[in-house]
Amino acid sequence: MNTKYVFVTGGVASSLGKGIIAASLAKLLQARGLRVTIQKFDPYINIDPGTLNPYEHGECYVTEDGAETDLDLGHYERFLGVHTSKANNVTTGKIYNTVITKEREGAYLGKTVQIVPHITDEIKRRMLLLGRTGDYDIILTEIGGTVGDMESQPFIEAVRQLQWELPDEDCMSIHLTLIPYLRAARELKTKPTQHSVQMLQQSGVKPDVIVCRTEQPLTPELRRKIALFCNVKPGHVIQSIDAWSIYQVPLNMHEEHLDELAVRKLQIENFTQPELGKWKEFLERLKNPKHEVTIGLVGKYVELQDAYKSIQEALVHAGAANECKVNVKTIHSEQVSEANVAEMLAGMDGILVAPGFGERGIPGKIAAVRHARENGIPFFGICLGMQMAVVEFARDMLGYADAASTEMQPATTHPVIDLMEEQKTTTIKGGTMRLGAYACKLVPGTLAARIYGQPDVKERHRHRYEFNDAYRTAFEEAGMVISGTNPDTGLVEIVEIPSHPFFIGTQFHPEFKSTPEQPQPIFAAFVKAAIDTHLQKK
Ligand code: GLN
Repeated sequence: MNTKYVFVTGGVASSLGKGIIAASLAKLLQARGLRVTIQKFDPYINIDPGTLNPYEHGECYVTEDGAETDLDLGHYERFLGVHTSKANNVTTGKIYNTVITKEREGAYLGKTVQIVPHITDEIKRRMLLLGRTGDYDIILTEIGGTVGDMESQPFIEAVRQLQWELPDEDCMSIHLTLIPYLRAARELKTKPTQHSVQMLQQSGVKPDVIVCRTEQPLTPELRRKIALFCNVKPGHVIQSIDAWSIYQVPLNMHEEHLDELAVRKLQIENFTQPELGKWKEFLERLKNPKHEVTIGLVGKYVELQDAYKSIQEALVHAGAANECKVNVKTIHSEQVSEANVAEMLAGMDGILVAPGFGERGIPGKIAAVRHARENGIPFFGICLGMQMAVVEFARDMLGYADAASTEMQPATTHPVIDLMEEQKTTTIKGGTMRLGAYACKLVPGTLAARIYGQPDVKERHRHRYEFNDAYRTAFEEAGMVISGTNPDTGLVEIVEIPSHPFFIGTQFHPEFKSTPEQPQPIFAAFVKAAIDTHLQKK
């Protein structure tokens, strides 16, 4: 069988959940026994989202091979349970970078370099790249942005050309739109969808299926109307109604026959019905919790839901694993102080101090660590959260009053967190952190070793600073244990305090590897500890 390509475009508005729809279809096809991956093409000019403030674009998701990518790749991995890579996220910046580099090398032999064909050819080359590995039966490609945006035009043109070049049965196009409900008129409105599809068709791309985001069910008449005016068969207009959980969406899409439409269009033979047993079990546990806890998530980007996407999702997975509803209370680190920390964190069954960069909100994070440490509240620090746990311990337990990370206080006399050697000469910001998966060796008998149940793990990183090894003995003598290190470099990856009921900090980001079907062990143990704390309070 040839590799098949499914393109997903969006119209009417952004934030409709194109990534979730793409991931849901991919999940259903995978559950039918096909080898599937998803890639995202983003029309912005940044080479990758690594240099973007989370307020701009939400979390930056890190892949196993160290690519800083769009947060939709997190959804892809969580739904499919397979790793994505550098090749799965392409931006306009990357496309132009390649073309301009080639131009400087003289590769175009005196030709005028143009959007068509040079930029579009490079887009097409990248769209087909993963298909050429032979590892996949189906490649879904999500095009970021909405149809009609000036910057997404070359991507839509590339889809048009591929629709023309590939055999009909190897290519499918799905368009996701919004059907707004006008409360005053008590009516669902199809006009924006009609316009969006018209615009797509003016670019020469014909959708095979239209997925309609809606708050209210679409009547058969409405589906017919959309089908007629958008030039697709009536059965090819499907609804994506607001779901109680994003993980319910694959089942909803199956009910709407989205996967069946795909296997028919792509002429996939001998397909089976999707096998979703484990997925459904997860949903059952999610829906029927026996416990309930509240976790305080202390960070500085809390105004934006998407800024800590993978952490939020990992807590959902960990909750289901423990049959527990996890309420996440986001707490702005800038608003926390030593004076108000008890009040701000009152009622929390666990405290998670989030990753981050820069000075803003640091005193609040340190106050939150101290509150958790002194009151025996389950604590989990991730990356900057771990670093601040180290700083707090140094100040209070080692008596180094000015202990700090040199990221915030370059002149500190106790740089307990310091720049990694190779970072000292780095001046370029993009793509130069310690990125991607690194091995971590666990010390037998520690909390970390018990949690993972194995001596060697691999987790993903994204940071420049690290635990300063010069202070290792001082910390260990005062009761903070280094329970995980990198076997090649000796870098400290996990710290914990054994005298505390549950206190752990990781230099890596375990949230990136958590999935519904395989919850991340530290998150699961953290929620379990929060349940114990909650029960004790009663
Ligand atoms: N700012 C810290 C560093 O660069 C932590 C980064 C993070 O939390 N991802 O080391």
